[in-house]
Amino acid sequence: MKKLFYIDYPQEHIEGQMHRYRCVHCKEETTTINGRLEGHLSSCEYRIKLEGAGYESEESASTNKLVSHDTDDFD
Ligand SMILES: [Zn+2]
Repeated sequence: MKKLFYIDYPQEHIEGQMHRYRCVHCKEETTTINGRLEGHLSSCEYRIKLEGAGYESEESASTNKLVSHDTDDFD
């Protein structure tokens, strides 16, 4: 299960910063998160909740594809 963009997390305005918002839970900026689940800290409540619900981050999805099969070479 995978979403294209993870933008439904609670955000708060950064005090004194025009047009800048961050995740309520991990305090990462929206520009840092950039709609990616792995943009949140691994300790982020939102990220943990979605990962617990079976959503994949881009990181783990690409890691799965990197699993390669080693071949045994005989002389
Ligand atoms: Zn977060």
